[in-house]
This record gives sequence, structure tokens and C-alpha cells, in this order.
Amino acid sequence: MTILIKGGTVVGPTGPYPADVLVDGETIAAIFAPGRGPEGPEVIDAGGKYVIPGAIDGHTHMQMPFGGTEASDTFDTGTRAAAIGGTTTIIDFAIQRYGEVVQDGLAAWHAKTADQCHIDYGFHMIVGGVDDDSLKAMDQLVASEGITSFKLFMAYPGVFYSDDGQILRAMQKARDNGALIMMHAENGPAIDVLVKQALERGETDPVFHGLTRPQELEAEATSRAIWLASVAADCPLYIVHLSASKALEQVKAARDLGRNVFAETCPQYLYLTLEDQLGAPGFEGAKWVCSTPLRSKHENHRADLWQGLRTNDLSVVSTDHCPFCMKDQKEMGLGDFSKIPNGIGSVEHRVDLLYQGVVDGKLSLARWVETIATTPARMFGMYPKKGIIAPGSDADIVLYDPAGRTRISVETHHMNMDYSAWEGWEIDGKVDTVLSRGEVIASGGTYTGRAGRGKYVPRGLSDYLI
Ligand SMILES: [Zn+2]
Repeated sequence: MTILIKGGTVVGPTGPYPADVLVDGETIAAIFAPGRGPEGPEVIDAGGKYVIPGAIDGHTHMQMPFGGTEASDTFDTGTRAAAIGGTTTIIDFAIQRYGEVVQDGLAAWHAKTADQCHIDYGFHMIVGGVDDDSLKAMDQLVASEGITSFKLFMAYPGVFYSDDGQILRAMQKARDNGALIMMHAENGPAIDVLVKQALERGETDPVFHGLTRPQELEAEATSRAIWLASVAADCPLYIVHLSASKALEQVKAARDLGRNVFAETCPQYLYLTLEDQLGAPGFEGAKWVCSTPLRSKHENHRADLWQGLRTNDLSVVSTDHCPFCMKDQKEMGLGDFSKIPNGIGSVEHRVDLLYQGVVDGKLSLARWVETIATTPARMFGMYPKKGIIAPGSDADIVLYDPAGRTRISVETHHMNMDYSAWEGWEIDGKVDTVLSRGEVIASGGTYTGRAGRGKYVPRGLSDYLI
């Protein structure tokens, strides 16, 4: 079946231009000057709309086990919500726990996703135990499984934590096989001391989650990761969920030296704060407990992060979607903030929340598309199959209506959460139509996709490395 998307403004990483887009089957067949496309195919009127590549969320945790519970979105509910919000590919984190065989961890994630996803998906691999076997497994995953990025943790001692020697070994391996090391950069052992001291003082409210994870411990870990990567012959390094000005300074300094250092931030750090959300009265703040934590509005974090997005010191915006309900899940931390499951759910709202940055004059249209679609595709080895409107690419396309309006609420969202971290937020724009591999799966508020239509995307190496 062929579809002509007619009369819209195509937006790519080089900026907006008027064009008609011809979709043939699952791929984009051609791009025409306005009105020059063929007669005959089904037409979607894109007049007044932006035609952008389907967004790619490079950081999600669907149904992830954490702290005795499991993230509340399944691959079914989470990828459906993502699709409705204009995201047509996610990269989730498969997990190898300490003592487990890496390939068994990966197989578990393939089992969880089989016949469940509404959109295409790939995996990063969390390496929870760096040893001879898991290092060998990294080679196999890069060579044969389409997994080219590995996440390590400088936080969470006793869970996912790797010490500096383990990190260095994994980095040396990645330098050899071309993979990207993704880092949760917070100094976990130091944070654990602060958490224990706070609890001993009777400081149990959610806000202390943020106050016991000061930005210095994110900046220190970020810096240490950058230096370790330097020792590993400039192993490519990608800092996940960067939240703080001082951490950004470390990334900026490395990038100014031409190093293979990249970073992402997330919508929550661009908009929400320690005082206004995490510090909400009573237990309310639990809704915004995530790591890295929300930062103080009295410092310059949000403005610095927006600037970092403009200057490319921050390359990508992902969600770190890791939803937990208040009831029975976040409530596990009543009376002890350290027991609140860490995570915020935003997979449905990232395209809108970043578009608001365009409306507010903080990002260009081109940079909006780059940070939510094109760069993640290139960073994680899915380009040009994903992340661009170009002949031969998958027809993952979103029609975005700048005259529309989106109001975010638990009453209307599609994520499996009993609250919204963005309750009442209004966006000056709206996702109008979503195509995934040539199939219209959402249009004008009606969803027509289905679980199981999403396919696993084996990934190549990052485009950004020489
Ligand atoms: Zn995460």
C-alpha cells in the first residue's frame, strides 16, 4: 500500500522545508516538492503540520524489577503509550544481574517483549557483574545480537554497582569491540553514607532522597568516568540522565578536548525541581523520586541543561521511563525515603515536552527533532533506518500539530500509572498522527495499533565514533 503525506512541513536535523512524503509499504519511497507527488495513492493531509521522524526513546525500563517491585508499565502498556505520544522506537535495558550469565539476562528480555510491543524496540545491556565471562559476552552481543551499548553503575552498591577496576575493564573491552559504555554516574558508596546519616537523624521524607544525592557526587562520578574512559584509550562514553550543572561542566570540558564523551538529559531535569516537586508536602514528593534526583530551583541547572542541548554538550533527550504507582509501590517508602522505588514515567510525553521548548524559544525545530529522534538513531546504531525522513528509511513518521494543545493528566494518559508526574501541564502542540513502518497506528486521538506488531531492531555501532 502506498500513502502520500501531502502539504506538510518536513522537519529534519537540517531544518524545516515544505514537501510531500511518499510511503510504500513499510518504508519511505520518495520525497517530492509540494504538489509533485504521484496521483493515486491514499493521501494523508498534513496541511499546517510538521512531518517529523518517529521519535526514539533511548532509555526506558518497562516492567523492570526494582527494590522488591516491578516498573508498572509492561512492554504492552508502555509501548502503546509511547506510540500515542509520537515515539516509534524504544531502547530498553536488558539486565544481567550479578552472578547471572549475560546471555540469559538478554534472553529474559526477549521473552518479555515477544509479541508485546506496539512499536519497534532494541536493547542496551546492563552488565551487573563485570568478570571474565561477561566481558567475553560483550563481544558476542556486539557481533551477533545487535547490542552495541552496555550500561554500568557507579551507584547502587550491592545491586548493579561496578567498582573502578571493573569499569576500566569493561571500557577496555568496549574500546576493542566498538561498543558504547553508558554510565549511571553517581558516587554510590558516598551516597549510601549520606542516606544512612539522614535516616539516623529522622529525615525520612521524599525530599531527603534529593538532599542525600548532591550534585557534587554526580559531578565527581561523571569526572571519574571520563578519566577512566581516557585511560581506556578514549573508550566511547555516554552519561545517562545527566541532571546537574556541575556534571555538565565535566562533559563539556571533555567534549571541548574532542573526547568521545556524550550525555543525555531527561524532561524531568529540564522542567521539575527539588523544591516544587520532590519537596511537595507529606509523602507527595515520592511521585518524583528518581535517580539522579531533581535539582534545586535556586541553582542554574535547568537553564544550563537547555543551553547544553543547544550547544550539543547534551546530545539526546531520553525519558528514563521507569514508572511506579503510588499505591503499593511508591508507598513502600512511607517513613523511609530510601525504600521508595526510583523512577518517573514520561514515555508518552517526551515529544510534547520538548516541543514546548521550541515554543518557549529554547530550541530550534531542527534541534527538537535531532535530540528526540535523529541523534538517538545515530548514537545507538539505528540510522538511517530510523531517525530521519529519507528515501529508504523506515516509514516511522509523526504528524505534529503546532496549533493543537495537549493537557497532561492521569485521567487521559495511557501509561499504567495511578498519577502523572506532569499533572495539569499544558503543551502548545499535539501529536496528530503516528505511522510505524508505514502503518497508521494513531490518528486524531484514535489508536489502531496492536501489541506484537513491534519488531526487534538489531543495532550497529554508533555513528559518532571515528
Ligand atoms: Zn534508567
